Amino acid sequence: MPPVQPNPDVRVRFAPSPTGFLHVGSARTALTNWLYARATGGKFVLRIEDTDQSRNQQDVIDVIFRELEWLGLDWDEEPVFQSSRRERHRDVVAAMLANGQAYIVDDEKNEVAGSEILDGHAVRFRVPKGQDISFDDEVRGTVSFNSDELEDFVIWRSNGSAMFLLANAVDDADMGITHAIRGEDLLNTVPKVSLLLDAMGEPKPTYGHLPLLVGEDRKKLSKRKDSVSIADFRARGFVAKAMTNYLALLGWGPPDEVEIRPIEEIVALFNITDVNSAPAFFDVKKLTHINHHYLQELEPAAFVDLATPYLLDEDVPWAADAYNAELFAEVAPEIQQRAKTLSEVPALMQWMYVDEVTFDEKAWKKGIEKGKRVPEILDGVIAKYQDCSWDAETIGQIVRDVGDELEVRSQVPVRVAITGTNAGIPLFEPLVTLGRERTIARLVRARARLDT
Ligand code: GLU
Repeated sequence: MPPVQPNPDVRVRFAPSPTGFLHVGSARTALTNWLYARATGGKFVLRIEDTDQSRNQQDVIDVIFRELEWLGLDWDEEPVFQSSRRERHRDVVAAMLANGQAYIVDDEKNEVAGSEILDGHAVRFRVPKGQDISFDDEVRGTVSFNSDELEDFVIWRSNGSAMFLLANAVDDADMGITHAIRGEDLLNTVPKVSLLLDAMGEPKPTYGHLPLLVGEDRKKLSKRKDSVSIADFRARGFVAKAMTNYLALLGWGPPDEVEIRPIEEIVALFNITDVNSAPAFFDVKKLTHINHHYLQELEPAAFVDLATPYLLDEDVPWAADAYNAELFAEVAPEIQQRAKTLSEVPALMQWMYVDEVTFDEKAWKKGIEKGKRVPEILDGVIAKYQDCSWDAETIGQIVRDVGDELEVRSQVPVRVAITGTNAGIPLFEPLVTLGRERTIARLVRARARLDT
């Protein structure tokens, strides 16, 4: 489909029910609405569907604002709180009662005479018979229901509060929402909401129902087995740009197949009508790959800023006073090339901060136990390190010279002895800062371990 045409009359909304966290599926819904508003030049607004009193707490609601801000999904107007619209919802129910579109019921769902809201009684909407309810869904194409499939349904609870569907319909109408873009789980609410809007004499928004997100097992993402909240991904060291880029790719791909790109380009290329209606696999590996790309692209100073909190976390495997910001800043450009998420940074830095490295047993076996002439390599390097000039060039050359003399490869055993593993950043620059004494101590320790 061609790109979205400008249309400043567009009004889309993200309408979360506060649950205490922002689900990745909800974030994808918010993003899709935002993309549409930014592409058309319309408005993106928020409506907090907080009619469920028990969950109506400020901190639970603040989570949503915070996560949207983090993702960069800015909204255009003051958010609407559904809880503040009770009177309006009540008025609509009263009007429906007054003109016979709804009726009062008792506890057994039997109709009770009366045309006004009655305390302690629910109100049901009278579903008109034989009505075709068809609409063109932006994602799914034509969707058809018939009102004969529906029973009369409750719009007002006996405790005096509006039901979700009533509030949802009234608020979309009052907020002038032109497009309701949201998760597929809400598709089956369209027939009832359409009937309510008809009863109110209000136009229906255009609907777009985004496909379900599934995990590796092709089952719906679940809080129990998957990471599902944006906060989780943030804590795991994914950056916002990677997150929004990846969320846009769920069920959609740009025509030129360039998937990793700035959000401005996605705004220009994304069209909800191109979103596939099949369930979308939430692929953490792909997200990780995209995150790696964005981390590599950061200015080194920005990377340092983002990664530092992870190095100051209380769970890091080194003594608190061992952290050395200068050392990190020095090696950060190398770490940045390797860390796929910010939470991998402590593991990559740990050998520089711990007193004694923990040997990765596989690396130890392969690089040291099974290596050729390792005792001689270590002894040779230890001897030469005692009084050489302590710069990266010299200490690297010494390792190569010792290897050449022995006619073996010397880099791997030295690396494993010093860092505990066989992977990581270039070794010799950080050793300058680590210092002669500590470097030699590590080589000596590995040498001794080899003898035992
Ligand atoms: N509050 C609903 C939810 O969080 C969304 C309603 C809508 O988008 O129409 O599932």
